[in-house]
Amino acid sequence: MTNPLLSDWTGEFALPPFAAIADEHFGPAIDAALDVARATVAAIADAPEPPTFANTVEALEVAGETLLKVLGVFFNLASADANPAREALQREVSPKLAAYSSEITMNPALFARIEALWQDRDGLGLTDEQARVLLLTRRSFVRAGALLEGDDRDRLKAIMQRLSVLGTQFTQNLLADERDWAMDLSESDLAGLPGFVADAARAAGAERGAPGPVVTLSRSLITPFLTFSPNRDLRRRAYEAYVARGANGGATDNRAIAAETLALRQERARLLGHDSFADFKLATEMAKTPQAVRDLLMQVWAPARAAAERDAAVLEQMLHDDGVSGPLEPWDWHFYAQRRRQAEHDLDEAELKPYLQLDRMIEAAFSVAGRLFGLEFRALDGPFYHPDVRGWEVTRAGRHMAVFLGDYFARGSKRSGAWCSTMRSQKQGAEVRPIVVNVCNFSKPEPGRPALLSWDDARTLFHEFGHALHNILSDVTYARISGTSVARDFVELPSQLYEHWLEVPEVLGEFATHAETGAAMPRDLLDRLLGAATYDMGFQTVEYIASALVDLAFHDGPAPADPMQKQAEVLEQIGLPRAIRMRHATPHFAHVFSGDGYSSGYYSYMWSEVMDADAFAAFEEAADYFDEGTAARLEQFVLSAGSVQDEAQAYIDFRGSLPGVEALLAGRGLVGA
Ligand SMILES: [Zn+2]
Repeated sequence: MTNPLLSDWTGEFALPPFAAIADEHFGPAIDAALDVARATVAAIADAPEPPTFANTVEALEVAGETLLKVLGVFFNLASADANPAREALQREVSPKLAAYSSEITMNPALFARIEALWQDRDGLGLTDEQARVLLLTRRSFVRAGALLEGDDRDRLKAIMQRLSVLGTQFTQNLLADERDWAMDLSESDLAGLPGFVADAARAAGAERGAPGPVVTLSRSLITPFLTFSPNRDLRRRAYEAYVARGANGGATDNRAIAAETLALRQERARLLGHDSFADFKLATEMAKTPQAVRDLLMQVWAPARAAAERDAAVLEQMLHDDGVSGPLEPWDWHFYAQRRRQAEHDLDEAELKPYLQLDRMIEAAFSVAGRLFGLEFRALDGPFYHPDVRGWEVTRAGRHMAVFLGDYFARGSKRSGAWCSTMRSQKQGAEVRPIVVNVCNFSKPEPGRPALLSWDDARTLFHEFGHALHNILSDVTYARISGTSVARDFVELPSQLYEHWLEVPEVLGEFATHAETGAAMPRDLLDRLLGAATYDMGFQTVEYIASALVDLAFHDGPAPADPMQKQAEVLEQIGLPRAIRMRHATPHFAHVFSGDGYSSGYYSYMWSEVMDADAFAAFEEAADYFDEGTAARLEQFVLSAGSVQDEAQAYIDFRGSLPGVEALLAGRGLVGA
């Protein structure tokens, strides 16, 4: 019987044949695809013909095609719908892939061909895009150790394999801790909670087969619970469980993994000729140096901390007014901040929520994409990889652009957070259009009830959809540089920029309609909502920058033997207010430890925000949130362009110059603080 993962996918849009794929197909398919890829790479490296761009760089681009096709499905399922078989296979596959990629980058014959092309690059008659792909290909070989020899080569290879094992283990431990913990609630514990939080707790209890409602560590449940539960002891227990993820001792504890990871990264950077892992990592980002990152973060830190301290004093007074003595604690912040928001802005999340229906917010995201870029969305019949997943065909003027899948609801088998991935990337030649997936963790409603979002959820939906657009609109020749394959500190520009359209009054006016009455959000509620847009921004900025500075400190200089102690030192040094903790503490800092992606790169969100604040200002300056010319430039230089050119240049082409920090501070309400 043929393995459906390896067959030609001949169905509509060449989607993976989800219904035919069983878990036992993945292992053999990955092994077979690896064999094919190895043979193809060997043939490229050992070819008797002199190297050309086509027979070497282009050929390498397609060598791993089958492997990428299989892995696109597998990694998506391993993150969004894990089970023991998929987890076991992921542990097995990660080191195999690391070994394969080391074999390529450390193949001397192959690198010799690339190096020959590089030395001769000006005489090859390459297009700009080809020249860029050659530069990036050679750079990736050098950064993976192609220039190393002897023991150093072997050591780097061993480090890379070990790091991939550690990253997988870190993720799986976190998932286990998140899955295992739940706090049983009695019906009386639901007192004081808005209906949607009580419903979510009951639904979570039912999903877990618990006798009654529960609080889980799913962000879309625990955050509203901490925000609304008047029971301080329950808040404390839930909060402490949340921040203890990955640090509970035993088999799922991540602290030793973090220490080993940091030591290996430092060794890796040294082998490759860099002083520190941060130096190595940042050399290919827009920021270029750790100092540039620190400069940005510290410019924002001082006003943010001052704002947070002022807020803390107000909230602590509210706590004391409730007859509770002692200092404001981290499990009090959300609760009193919500009360204060209600008092000062007359804004209550429970009042807002019925207007934020998931289906209407999806329509809103699609509508904005239609007005800006002419995209149209047509719902597809599933089934896809899980019954909750929905799919759409994306077209423009009748032309197929992409398949977009939305996997919105939380479940035990999904890792926490929200993300955008592709099962297939865009490229030209034989034109390939992408399959793009948005995965979120919104509370699933009880059957027959509409799914309602928090304001934060709605922002997340727009954010991930911005990443999706970066893939959907991609229009380049080579997969290596397509879609979101850009510098890490540039990649959040499209996503964060898209969040701005959620705050455009006419968008909310049209799509924020009441779940029961269908009435549009009253103008007065809309004004209060937008008026509170920068509320609590001191807290949010502080918890984020604290995480970013700890991440930077971990990688800038010698690796700390005890990361928890290093974390404590950094927080002490910057004076983190006592009622605020890091947004992600080390044992569950998946951005930094699940893989290399955001290591010494957590600052990227803020780096991108400097640009997204300035980029949205371009539409404001045009006095039209849907200005055609500005949208066309955004698509041309950013959303369709992958990394065809250096990211700083791409931004300058779009906007004229690189921005300072002013628009960001203004956007966060931190000016003059
Ligand atoms: Zn993002």
